[in-house]
Amino acid sequence: MTQEEIFHAIDEVSEFNTQKVLQAMQEVRLSDAHFKTTSGYAYDDLARQTLDKLFAKIFKAEDALVRTQFVSGTHALATVLLGILRPNDKLISITGTPYDTMQTIIGYDVKQPVRGSLKDFGILYEELDLKRDGTVDFDLLEKTIDETATMVLIQRSRGYCLRPALSCKDIQKICAAVKQKNSNCICFVDNCYGEFVETVEPIEMGADICAGSLIKNIGGGLAESGGYIVGKKNLVELCSYRLTAPSLGSELGATLANPRTLFQGVFLAPHVTAQALKSACFAAKIFSDLGYPVFPKPDEIRHDIIQAIELGSAKKVCAFCQAIQKWSPVDSFATPEPWDMPGYDDQIIMAAGTFIQGASIELSADAPMREPFAVYLQGGVTLEHAKIAIKKAAQAVQSL
Ligand SMILES: *Cc1c(COP(=O)(O)O)cnc(C)c1O
Repeated sequence: MTQEEIFHAIDEVSEFNTQKVLQAMQEVRLSDAHFKTTSGYAYDDLARQTLDKLFAKIFKAEDALVRTQFVSGTHALATVLLGILRPNDKLISITGTPYDTMQTIIGYDVKQPVRGSLKDFGILYEELDLKRDGTVDFDLLEKTIDETATMVLIQRSRGYCLRPALSCKDIQKICAAVKQKNSNCICFVDNCYGEFVETVEPIEMGADICAGSLIKNIGGGLAESGGYIVGKKNLVELCSYRLTAPSLGSELGATLANPRTLFQGVFLAPHVTAQALKSACFAAKIFSDLGYPVFPKPDEIRHDIIQAIELGSAKKVCAFCQAIQKWSPVDSFATPEPWDMPGYDDQIIMAAGTFIQGASIELSADAPMREPFAVYLQGGVTLEHAKIAIKKAAQAVQSL
C-alpha cells in the first residue's frame, strides 16, 4: 500500500468511530447540564453517571467506570486485578511478559519484592511465552488453560517490546480459545493505545473486561487525567469497590474539574487517534529509509499507535528523545535524561513536551535503557507538529 492509501484507510476508521461516538452521545442525550462540577459525596452526579453510560455504549459493554480519580492507566488496570482476584486465584498472562508497570503490580520476577502486589496477596501467576515471531502461542494456551485459571491478561499494545500489537480479531481468537477450555475464566484486556485504532473494541470481540488510560487515545488530548474500566456489570462493580470502598462503589466520587474536557476529548479521540497513526506511519517511513528496523513497517496495518524504532545504541535513543522534546510546544528547553521512574525496573528516558504532563496521545517518545535500544514513539495531536519533530529527530540521530 502507498502512504496515501494507508492514510485513506485510517480516515475511514476515524469516520466510522466518529459516527459511533456521535450516536452514543445522542443516546445519552449529552447536554450542557453534564458539564458541571460537583462536591462532597457527589451522589447522583450527572456528569459521572453520563460519562459511564457513554463509555459503556462506545465499548458495547454492560457497564463502565470512568474516573479522573484513577491516577493513571496503571491504576485502572491494577484496580481490575486487585478488585476481582482473591487469594489462591490464578492470573495467566497470555501475551508474554506484560508492560513494565503491570509486572510491578503482579510482583513476580521483579528485582525487589513489591508490597501490595498480587504476589503479596497470595494470588498465583503464570506467563505464557510468545512464539518467536511475537504472536500468541495457541498450542501452549490450550495446554495451560484449565479450571484453575481465574483470569487471563491480554495486552493489546506492544508495550516496551518489539512484538506486534494484537488486532481485535486476534483478541477474539484468544478469548474464544480461553473460553473453550474454561468458560468461567475472565478475559481481561489491557487496552492502552488501542482505542479507536480499529472499528471494533475488545468487549464486542469476547473480552469480559478491559481498561486503559484517559491520557492516551480515548482522552483525545483534552482529558486532564484519569482512566477507565469497561465490561461485564458484575466485574465492573467489583472494581468499583476497589476504587472507592466495599459497598460504596461507583455511587460516590465528586467531579472536581469541568467534565467537558472528558466528553469533548472522547468526541475528538477518533480524529486525534488518526493523527497519531499517520504520525507513526510517517516516522516509520523516514527511519526505515535510513536503514533502521521499524515495527510496524511503514505499510503495515496498525493495531496500536506505537511506532518502535530500533536505534541500536543508548546514545541514539537519548538523541532521538532529546530532539522530540526540543521540538515540543511545552518545556522545549528541557533535556530529558534516563531516570528511575516509579513502577519501572529499568531506567527510562521520556520525552513528553506535552500540555498534559506525560500524556502520550500528545507527541512523545520514550525508551527503557536496555537492549536492543529501541525507542517508542507515539501520539501526535496534529500530524503537522509530528512531521516537524520527527524530521528533527532523524537529523539528530544521523548527526551522531
Ligand atoms: C501506557 C500503558 C499502560 C499504563 O501506563 P500509565 O502510564 O500508567 O497510564 C499499561 N499497559 C500498556 C501496554 C501501556 O502502554
